[in-house]
Amino acid sequence: MSGVGVEPSSRIGVTLDLILKTLIASSEFASLEPKNWEAIAHLIPGTSAVQCARRYEELLSGGGGVALQHLTRTMTNAGLNTSTSVTSLCESETSRRSASNSRPNSSKSKGTKDDKEKSNTIKDGQFRKDLSQKGPIMVIHVCDEAKNLKKDFQCPRDLLVQEMKYFAEYLSTDAQRWEEVDISVHCDVQIFDWLMKYVKRGSKEFPNEPKLEANNVVSILISSDFLKMDSLVLECIKFCHKNMSDIVATPCNMGCINDRLLTRISDLFTHNEADDVRDRKDKFKSKLFSKMIEKLFDPDVVNADSPEQATTLFRCSICKRHLINKMKTLVKCMPSRLTIDRTGQMTFSHIPDPTFDVNDYILELKGQLKTWRDVYWRLWGTVNCFTCARCGDVFPLTEFGHCSYHPETARYETEPGGVTSCVGVYPCCHQKSVRFDPTFINKGCRVKDHIVNLPSGGDGEKATKSPMQSVFDDLLLRRDVICVPYQRLCDFR
Ligand SMILES: [Zn+2]
Ligand SMILES: [Zn+2]
Ligand SMILES: [Zn+2]
Repeated sequence: MSGVGVEPSSRIGVTLDLILKTLIASSEFASLEPKNWEAIAHLIPGTSAVQCARRYEELLSGGGGVALQHLTRTMTNAGLNTSTSVTSLCESETSRRSASNSRPNSSKSKGTKDDKEKSNTIKDGQFRKDLSQKGPIMVIHVCDEAKNLKKDFQCPRDLLVQEMKYFAEYLSTDAQRWEEVDISVHCDVQIFDWLMKYVKRGSKEFPNEPKLEANNVVSILISSDFLKMDSLVLECIKFCHKNMSDIVATPCNMGCINDRLLTRISDLFTHNEADDVRDRKDKFKSKLFSKMIEKLFDPDVVNADSPEQATTLFRCSICKRHLINKMKTLVKCMPSRLTIDRTGQMTFSHIPDPTFDVNDYILELKGQLKTWRDVYWRLWGTVNCFTCARCGDVFPLTEFGHCSYHPETARYETEPGGVTSCVGVYPCCHQKSVRFDPTFINKGCRVKDHIVNLPSGGDGEKATKSPMQSVFDDLLLRRDVICVPYQRLCDFR
């Protein structure tokens, strides 16, 4: 979600952030509802109310621990300093305008600078020689505001451009241009140090790849995504998938992971893996499950966790059930909706409620169930169904415990003349019973679990689980949140 909206590299973006940061610091503004974004947008020409509101949210959720807070590129141009500031949370569709403005003789020669500054990362002269074939050496000034540190890093241009694609936009292969470019990065020094080791992995100086850890992967993910280090981003995402419980236990800020990265991470999780994440403070689990809910409603996604999609979800205005189109004629409605189709089969026809709004429904579930995890499981149980081997009903998983029965069999009086009556009574509930009831509607005064006959998925434990078996196992594991309490069907008509 970040990245859209105000172009952050522009002066407008910087001004906007300044104003918004002032507003964030004001408790008066925080408690103001609704906030007048129109008026705020008016203060900053070129922005819209929506952009301001969105950026405000981003800044709020970004918090402190963002690794790469700003990436500044300073172009020195005959005494005139133009500085463009880019926040790390945004896509870097950065303006290229300054590259051509800044031509003339400006920056100091790299050689002398290297000698003067003792903060060189490259100590091995041999290594530098090896890399000298890879274009001129670039100096990157890293300012770490949080720790009040400054450090210079060096890297051959070709390697830098190849590994950190972000710089490819700036460091043209035109030899004259790079000489004028002075790169400043506002970033955690330790993180940038890690990134440089990654860039130079396999060299004599750094023969091994630096290690991702639970306490650095989020910072590295965000920085590498910003710097467009694609293979490293992928490594971080895989690491997140494998080690999420450990990661959320560290004091990292998961709020700075943008929506695009969040989608990529959550795509690796099965719903069971997501459920197994231990996340006491709920730093990530809810985000994971909201993505899974999105996936249920995405017609373009093949979802191994859910045989059915929620895209056609509707509410029946008669029985108030939530169903998908596929279940429309299979799951029973109120008895009054029972019809016989052309083949003589009994079918039900639910009537979709035209006022049903799926977003309202999801919010309603959220209010009722409290967590996105529980909302996910309830929705999953609503759209998937089984057929009961005992009563023959097709039932959504949410109604797993709704197989109705009478604990005692009906008693039919013997009429005078030895003929047994067609109408009997269930002793358990005194309900009348018709011996040959074609509707099968008046079933049971008690409920128990439906019986699901699963196709035998081969012998031995090594046989892979059938999708139905997985769905059934998942249902049994979480029936407390998936299933809804039984309510007797009663026709209002
Ligand atoms: Zn219905
Ligand atoms: Zn009964
Ligand atoms: Zn049943």
